[in-house]
Parts: sequence; structure tokens; C-alpha cells
Amino acid sequence: MTNPRGRFGDHGGQYIPETLMNAVIELEEAYDRYKDDPDFKAELRSYLNDYANRPSLLYFAERMTAGLGGAKIYLKREDLNHTGAHKINNALGQALLAKRMGKTRLIAETGAGQHGVATATVAALLGMECHVYMGVEDMERQALNVYRMRLMGTEVHGVDSGTGTLKDAVSECMREWTKRISDTHYLLGSCMGPHPFPTIVRDFQAFISEEIREQCLAAEGRLPDYVVACVGGGSNAIGSFYHFIDDADVRLIGCEAAGRGIDTWETAATLNTGSLGIFHGMKSYFCQDEYGQIAPVYSISAGLDYPGIGPEHAWLHDTGRAQYVAITDDEAVDAFEYLSRTEGIIPAIESAHALAHVMKIAPTLPSDQIVVVTLSGRGDKDCAAMARYRGEDIDE
Ligand SMILES: *Cc1c(COP(=O)(O)O)cnc(C)c1O
Repeated sequence: MTNPRGRFGDHGGQYIPETLMNAVIELEEAYDRYKDDPDFKAELRSYLNDYANRPSLLYFAERMTAGLGGAKIYLKREDLNHTGAHKINNALGQALLAKRMGKTRLIAETGAGQHGVATATVAALLGMECHVYMGVEDMERQALNVYRMRLMGTEVHGVDSGTGTLKDAVSECMREWTKRISDTHYLLGSCMGPHPFPTIVRDFQAFISEEIREQCLAAEGRLPDYVVACVGGGSNAIGSFYHFIDDADVRLIGCEAAGRGIDTWETAATLNTGSLGIFHGMKSYFCQDEYGQIAPVYSISAGLDYPGIGPEHAWLHDTGRAQYVAITDDEAVDAFEYLSRTEGIIPAIESAHALAHVMKIAPTLPSDQIVVVTLSGRGDKDCAAMARYRGEDIDE
């Protein structure tokens, strides 16, 4: 899908300082060498299956289907993976690649802490040194995840530049990487950043759509009509879409976080409100002001709170192959509660953005249509915040 210079249409590329060029070239060469290597693939497969619990289930949500009264709804259960989300797929893939490259040390950015925890997990598993960079604001809001990372032997570094949030943690990680490339791999958490990261992360998440295809064919004898996923940087969504891109009849829908609404400043809906720009090593769409400064973004969901989107999504948006809708906090919280009481599954608030869109479209569709929605993570981490949203204060 990507040409040799890592372009998706005009998006992507490598907008990075000279000092990082060698690192990304080395990474690209290593990835080209190992991605089809039978030993590497077998090693990754065995960790994914035996450690992370793949393949994840494709579950027919019978009560949700009956309750909404339209299309058949299936849930792709990434929430059942070890560490409770899809992020472990990419963390395992990149850490194993880094080991083959002779790297002994991992660095990673994290916002809500989910990617930091996934990286700390694989570092413990593979016996690698690990440093996670996290905005000081986020460290305070996500103290439990800071504890988890430290418990697994990772050093967590506070970043107090900018707004002290995810985008600043990414910038700090890039700076740290330039200082120490020889033994260090930057384990980037979503399908963004300079080439080859968007391609590498997409490939390590594409197990999701490979499995959906097989599982849907086995259950229904045909492909789904819709595949729906939430979009932060876009890794669980591109992983869910990838093996369907050439199937024109399968509609692909990404759900961005509208926050308090796309007509307010308190939003993180990049494709619905943003414009073309260059940031974090890539050309893509970003939430930015009239001077091209990256805008502060807001969503109830910390995992969708990123001011940009991966370049492959930008291209799928430009070509019209995928559609991107915006879901508000209110709609996501309603969906969070609806799935919990209808199916006994508490979804991550990120995933609830995708569910909210399914709740809108399923009742309008005939009963022979099939909708697959990716449940990118589980919602235990969100319970205290959701209670607070409804005016109830509970201890975390
Ligand atoms: C991090 C996260 C996301 C958003 O990241 P993507 O790269 O867009 O997938 C979505 N859901 C969960 C559960 C997450 O932890």
C-alpha cells in the first residue's frame, strides 16, 4: 500500500531532523529483512498466541442486535488480549524486531498509559531495559498506570514541556532517541510518526482484520458489510480495516472523538475539524490554529486525545475509501453503559466511540447486514471516570 518513501498519497514521509535519519533507515532495513522471515513470523505468532491470547474472539452480540433491531452485530474482542487492549500486538512485534536488531533498550511515549503499560509488559517479558516518557499532567491523572509500569521494572519520566500531555511525550521521545540510537529502539505506539512507523504498526495490528475475515467467513459464509473502529492515532482502526481495503463492498468507518462537539474547541476530531500539516515526522491532518500551531485537544477518552491521525487514514479519507465520523463524549458514555448492561461487557471508553456509531446505524440497516465493531480495549480503567461523569464519586 505504501510506496518506498513511505507515502500514502501525499501523506506520510519522513519530516525529521538529520540526526534521526540513520535510525529510521536502520529500522526500515531491519523491518524489510524480517517482516517475511519465517523464523521471525513464527516467534511473533507464538508470543501473540501463547502470551497475548490471540486470536481474539469474534463474538455475536445477540442481545445488542435484538435490542437495536437491525443489522447483525459482531464484536472483535481485543479487550480480551493480555493487558486488556490491542496495543500489546504492536508492542510485541516491535520489541521482537528490536531484539533482532541487537537493541537492548526500549523507549516509548504514553498518554493515558495504555501503550506505556504494553511496552513495560513486553520489556519485562523479554528482559529489556525500558524508559517511558509521559506528560506530567497525564502522570497525575493516570497514577495507577505509572505504578503498573514501575512495578514491571520500567522507569517513567515526566515531561513538563508544552501542555504536559501525549504530544509532548512523543516529541520528548524523538529527542531522547536522537541522543542514544545505538542500543535503543523507539517503540512508537500508533500508526503515526515518520516512515516506516505507520507501516510497521499497521502490519503488527493487521492480525485483527486477518482474523475478522476468517472468523466472519466461518460464522456467516461471507464478509461483513461494515467494519467500525475508534480512531486516536488510528492503529486499532487500520488493523481492523487493512485486509478489507481491496473489498469495495466492505464499508470502513473510523470514529473520532468529538469531545464536547466538533463546533467547539473542546474536540479531538482530526479529520472532521483539522487541516493538512506536518508534525511528529509526518504529513497528515492535524488539529491546529490559523498559524499552524498544534491545538490543545480534548476528549473524555484519554486514548483518543491526540491532535493528529496516521497518514494512511488521511489517505483513506482523501480517496473516500473509509469514512470518518465524530462521536461526542455524551454519545460514547451512553454506549459504554449500553454495552455493559446489554451484553455484560464493559468496553474501554475509546471503543465506546465505535459502539456509539454502531448504535446509530444498526437500526437503520436490514437484518441481513453484518456489522463488525472492534472492541479495542476493556473498560475497567474507565469506571471511576464514568461514575464521575454521572455525578458519582467513587474511589479508584
Ligand atoms: C490507545 C487506545 C486507542 C487509540 O489508539 P489507536 O492507535 O487509535 O488505536 C483506542 N482504544 C484503546 C483501548 C486504547 O488503549
